[in-house]
Amino acid sequence: MSTSKVISTARAPAGEGLYLRVGYNDHTGLDRLIAERKLRVEGLALDARWHDRQASLRQHADRASLATCLDTQAMELAMPGTASSGYRELPWANPAPHVPEDFSPQNIERCVDAIVERVADGQYSEVMAPAHYVAEPGSAWIDVDVQLTRVLRARLDATDQANVRIIYPLAVHHKVFYDRNGRALLRRVLSRLPIDSVTLRIQPFGNDSGPQALRNFIEACWDFPLEKPLMIERAGFSGLAAFALGAVDLVESGITLGDSFDISRIQKPAARGGASFSPPKRLYLEALGTTVDHKVAAALMGSSRGKAYFACKDPTCCPNGYRDMLADHRRHSTLARQRQYAELARVPRTMRAEHFLQHMVSPVCDMLSRASATHPPFNGAHRRMLSVKETLLDLQQEQQRQREQRRPKTERDTSVRPGARILDFPSRDSRGR
Ligand SMILES: [Zn+2]
Repeated sequence: MSTSKVISTARAPAGEGLYLRVGYNDHTGLDRLIAERKLRVEGLALDARWHDRQASLRQHADRASLATCLDTQAMELAMPGTASSGYRELPWANPAPHVPEDFSPQNIERCVDAIVERVADGQYSEVMAPAHYVAEPGSAWIDVDVQLTRVLRARLDATDQANVRIIYPLAVHHKVFYDRNGRALLRRVLSRLPIDSVTLRIQPFGNDSGPQALRNFIEACWDFPLEKPLMIERAGFSGLAAFALGAVDLVESGITLGDSFDISRIQKPAARGGASFSPPKRLYLEALGTTVDHKVAAALMGSSRGKAYFACKDPTCCPNGYRDMLADHRRHSTLARQRQYAELARVPRTMRAEHFLQHMVSPVCDMLSRASATHPPFNGAHRRMLSVKETLLDLQQEQQRQREQRRPKTERDTSVRPGARILDFPSRDSRGR
């Protein structure tokens, strides 16, 4: 193991970008896309359990100037559901799930040293701080995680890895994050940490979140001014919505799985026989803004009308349309996620919400309605998306009013609706970006 690494390809922290969370079987397809120079994302979030399995992907990503971020799985290692050998074999794991009392100063150093060694060995350009799930404001994990993060920065610096950036995974119950005092506490903690960006894991939040959860999340982010870029993790189409509304700077997305954060799934004890690496085969349908089961996708595209609605229309992604989508669901899902993010990122910030509503949410509503004729469960998703659309429209208007309020008085027009509710939060745009 060498600790004398110099990351020649590491890039300066970017203001915006898309990260992909690499699943157990995703590395081969991603490697191919890197070779074709078609993978245009900011970085890859790599699970520490698959360090050896995904070594060549990591090397190729680094050469292609993509950030490679080691996810230490520290949060998961404190959950009873992660007793599989993949977790227990991590050098910083315990035979039993971690509890805050495990982290004496000596054990913090031992844990961090093992992580730093892994970062050097894998030549990662980024590492997630080994932070834990915060269930309430008084959580004992907060102080432990502050110490772990500080020692991590110091150890990286001391081992010639000063250019390895630290992303802090803020995994937190929604009651803490959606509460003004809870956010103030989190902000105080984060502002004292030697970190480069923050990634949010909100319990529970994701692709299936309803309009109220989406509103709470976006308004909470608007009232969470950090000096660091803010990312939303595992949120699917809701993550894109948050990006469009200026609630976050970066989006992290799974490829065919992992579009929601739900701690109860991680907390469940693993099934006997260890973790299964044959999860259901799914693919991302841009037209519906969601992943669907492979069989459902095949049924949707079983008619010529279905093909016209749902099949991939990008010849550089799926030259043979639906056949290629079904045959290489990972490749299509990767490129489809990338396309949707890129379409939004191209639009200036001030016009992004409107673009998202008109060109992405409205068509998704139409297509969900059409899809429900073939697959009735989409009826519920359609109703939810219509409600989400109304909520986003209201938030967009709120955002416009905020922008109007921030303009110098002499420049303002008189179009602000009298009696409009003006919230006293600064939006992320107020940071001048
Ligand atoms: Zn495609």
